[in-house]
Amino acid sequence: MTARLFICLLIAAASLAAQPKTVRIGVLSLFEPRELTLRASQAGPLRLAGGSTIEGQRVAQLSANGDSVLISIAGHALETDRISTAGSFELTVPGKLTRQYNGALEITAHAGALQGVVTMDLETAVASAVAGEAALDGPQQGLLAQAVASRSYLASGRRHDEFDFCDTTHCQYLTDALDERARSAAAETAGTLLWYNGKPFEALFTRSCDGRTRTPQQVGLQGSAAYQSAECPICARAPKSWTRTHPLAEVAALIREHSEQARLDVVRRLGLEAIPSNMYEATASGDTATFTGAGEGHGIGLCQRGAAGLARQGASWRDILHRYFPAVLIR
Ligand SMILES: [Zn+2]
Ligand SMILES: [Zn+2]
Repeated sequence: MTARLFICLLIAAASLAAQPKTVRIGVLSLFEPRELTLRASQAGPLRLAGGSTIEGQRVAQLSANGDSVLISIAGHALETDRISTAGSFELTVPGKLTRQYNGALEITAHAGALQGVVTMDLETAVASAVAGEAALDGPQQGLLAQAVASRSYLASGRRHDEFDFCDTTHCQYLTDALDERARSAAAETAGTLLWYNGKPFEALFTRSCDGRTRTPQQVGLQGSAAYQSAECPICARAPKSWTRTHPLAEVAALIREHSEQARLDVVRRLGLEAIPSNMYEATASGDTATFTGAGEGHGIGLCQRGAAGLARQGASWRDILHRYFPAVLIR
């Protein structure tokens, strides 16, 4: 074996070791559900804290009682610290939505809200992120670029104490991984990550931009030095422009500082469409403020609209990732 080959093998082994096989996703946390319906027809037995199991019964109504989980199953009620199962199952937030999962489920309760954590295969999570984050009717190479960016993000480390990532836009929006295009985008790029300084890169993405992406530092966030402001030819040619006028008192912070944190504080109060992106000019006049901007989202990293447009023009998923993340390695 040559020294060079040996080093290559060492690097390959190190990168394989660095990739997590599973991720722990906090699910449905956006709803802070007090009640959930668990349908576990293709899963193992339901296990309770302390080790007892319930065989045969596949539908359970769960509700939170302080820090305990109340289980109502076939007319019987039980109280436990934790319920778990593994396999294919479905969780319903009554009146809101039903979602299907594949993995190991654990449900606990905290201060009257149920918290589900699903430990799932990394590639299942990647397909769920592509289904949640990308326009699935878009071109294939754009979906492949999204799959690699989402996988890198999920491999880059955890963002929560009790689980690795949540399924809201705080981390990545995840939906069912059943969509065939989302699954094939994950499968075709399986194992490929973006790397910076020997670690999986925390690749962020934005719905669209104003013709140039931002670095985290440009919008007042901390982030990897690997980010560069990249030209986005798709949005430069035809930006998604917007104008909003708000009472000055509601948005005074955005006149003082142009930060993503200040924008998020405003959209939490006034709705996501109040200030659609971080790419704007603001002018105050009397007691109103007018914002003229373009794009949707924080503007950092992969521009999803740009990625789809470049793919339509014939760019490969590697070309797309090189454009928006010029300093990272694709491997
Ligand atoms: Zn999160
Ligand atoms: Zn763009």
